[in-house]
Amino acid sequence: MIGLSFAFASSESWGWAETVAAVINPVNNTSMCTNWRARPSTNPCEVPYDRTMDSLIEPSSLTGLSPDTIAISKVNLSLGTGAARVHILKDISLRVTQGEAIGLIGPSGSGKSTLLMVMAGLERPDSGEVVVNGTPFNALDEDALARFRGRQVGIVFQSFHLIPTMTALENVAVPLELAGNPQAAQRAAQELMSVGLGDRQHHYPSQLSGGEQQRVALARALAPDPAILVADEPTGNLDEATGKQIVDLLFTKHAERGMTLVLVTHDTSLAQRCDRVIRLRSGRIDTVAADRTAAS
Ligand code: ADP
Ligand code: MG
Repeated sequence: MIGLSFAFASSESWGWAETVAAVINPVNNTSMCTNWRARPSTNPCEVPYDRTMDSLIEPSSLTGLSPDTIAISKVNLSLGTGAARVHILKDISLRVTQGEAIGLIGPSGSGKSTLLMVMAGLERPDSGEVVVNGTPFNALDEDALARFRGRQVGIVFQSFHLIPTMTALENVAVPLELAGNPQAAQRAAQELMSVGLGDRQHHYPSQLSGGEQQRVALARALAPDPAILVADEPTGNLDEATGKQIVDLLFTKHAERGMTLVLVTHDTSLAQRCDRVIRLRSGRIDTVAADRTAAS
């Protein structure tokens, strides 16, 4: 059941509590991870593993790449059981260089959100390899992967997923506190100021507009200074003008911080603002579209 509900993390039916747990709590969401579905287990004792760095010392087959890179190799992922089993991602290979912005487009159901979740370490592929910032996910156990995610991956969802009983400041501070940052509140306040919400720190989500809530969510994603920021239709619940402000802010932050950005969107013109556009079709990268992008 949890396995099924997780798969829709990307779509809006993922449970609120599960989403919040995954976004804000880098460690204590491991029960969710272990319950997604059976997956090849990796015993961290079998590989040289540096717990301080949360990374493998052993080079993977994808090493040699720039360390701040998303490298996905031959990823396959199916979800569901029996007749309802769906092969969602089919032999996906993709490299994203440090600081690059990728626009991920494609028809509804083509696997965009699922691929984003794979890149974020929120979903494990059945086969293939995912390396983010030099760290192969295959070799991390669930706790290590959750810690890695907490530090290196910022996630923004369409529906904001803020904790309603916490103020904006608390929402942004929680993941920092969980990561042991001794100046979580101070850092959270800075981050809220940087998204233009310096005067809304003590407001609860219900007291904020949709655009303001998405700014809080963006501040929360950015606060740990992640290597990659993934955003799944971040303007999907906003009116056009507000959506544009959020997107402008997203690209400003991307330019300021040099992090890698993966943006899922239905909006082709929005995707065109990225360095590269990747189109998915039925779980595969549309190579024709990729060639056209490369040629243009
Ligand atoms: P997109 O974001 O491009 O709209 P998704 O990644 O959300 O697509 O979903 C890709 C496909 O995977 C869809 O056909 C969806 O119905 C299917 N899917 C997602 N989760 C599950 C699941 N748990 N079980 C079966 N199929 C699923
Ligand atoms: Mg989606």
